[in-house]
Amino acid sequence: MLLNHVQLIGELSGGVETQDGAVRIQDGKIAAVYGAPVCPEGEETFDCAGRTLTPGLIDLHTHFTGLMGYSGSDVHSPMKVLTAAAQAAPRYLDYGFTTIRDCGSVLRAANFVRDLAEAGTVTAPHILSSGLILSPTEIERADAIYEMYSFGDGADAFRKMARSELAEHGDFVKLMASGAAFHPQGVPQHPIIAEDELREAVETASRKGTYVAAHAHADAAIRACIRAGVRTVEHATYISPATLDELERTPDCYLVPTLSAMFVSGSDETGFWHKRLGAMLDACCQGLRDAYARGLKIGFGTDSMAGMRQYEEGIEFRYRKENCGMKDLDILLQATAVSAEIAGLPDRGVIRAGMRADLVLWEQDPSMDIMAAAKRPSAVWLDGRLVRHEHT
Ligand SMILES: [Zn+2]
Repeated sequence: MLLNHVQLIGELSGGVETQDGAVRIQDGKIAAVYGAPVCPEGEETFDCAGRTLTPGLIDLHTHFTGLMGYSGSDVHSPMKVLTAAAQAAPRYLDYGFTTIRDCGSVLRAANFVRDLAEAGTVTAPHILSSGLILSPTEIERADAIYEMYSFGDGADAFRKMARSELAEHGDFVKLMASGAAFHPQGVPQHPIIAEDELREAVETASRKGTYVAAHAHADAAIRACIRAGVRTVEHATYISPATLDELERTPDCYLVPTLSAMFVSGSDETGFWHKRLGAMLDACCQGLRDAYARGLKIGFGTDSMAGMRQYEEGIEFRYRKENCGMKDLDILLQATAVSAEIAGLPDRGVIRAGMRADLVLWEQDPSMDIMAAAKRPSAVWLDGRLVRHEHT
């Protein structure tokens, strides 16, 4: 298939910068990128009419179970959880996300939806899934999100839990290194994991050729994660300049901030969430401005799910632009090439021959104004297959 008359952004297209180019797709991969339109050789052609083509977007921190679409009692019905998850996953394509990393799912439902998607039963983005979240004993058993966690204490327990999640086909290991923001019982400023627990999880994951993604708001927890060999530090809300110094010196360790998680979209009669999350947003933006000024590679995550207001309104894009002063092109790079590199996915994130043909066509150029990527894209290709198309 030929995508003709596309605008390409040089930084995302192997240096091919053009107002009117073309991309050839073959066998699910990008076969060639052209700086000028191409005369079709009897092949199927899609006229992109000068719109901007980017690689598919990547969300490195989402949860497509547990945030909406099911009620607390559903966690006792695995079939309901699976059904809701299988319905939720395809919706990411509506927003141009073609790869998502699920950082913890109820009853490991995301593992199974990933398998359904790989088998072609469900048309959903490529999914990386951690299964259950490893946590020290922290929240009470009565909580509805309990089924998203695996609890244990001590290095042996963390070795066992990490092995269990990988044996259940998790792609990586997710753990809790600090208190949670969304649990009233959690205190984000508290580090909650011991050093030996953290190291054991990291070593267990690396023996299986994968890595640890750690939930860490507290500065001390972030520092412990960096020192223990964690690959992605999620949220990183209270990161201090001294910890950023350590991060700068540590290879293969990256921040995946999730500013949109601090967006209060529901009712909040007591003001508890506005107060808690507002202060966290301020702290996180401060750390992120510093990380950005240092030129660190920053991953793109939302800690929300497709269908929520955060997606509908592009809150993660907006906060990075307006609250952190990031350039439009840099945010677009974070949500594509940089996140692909951080997650160790060398076959996507840029438009180049040999890459997966995960592509998105936008009405306006998101490298000029990232909020263009907050609108529904004109078309989405997944492995070279047209999976979304807005007829205009
Ligand atoms: Zn999360």
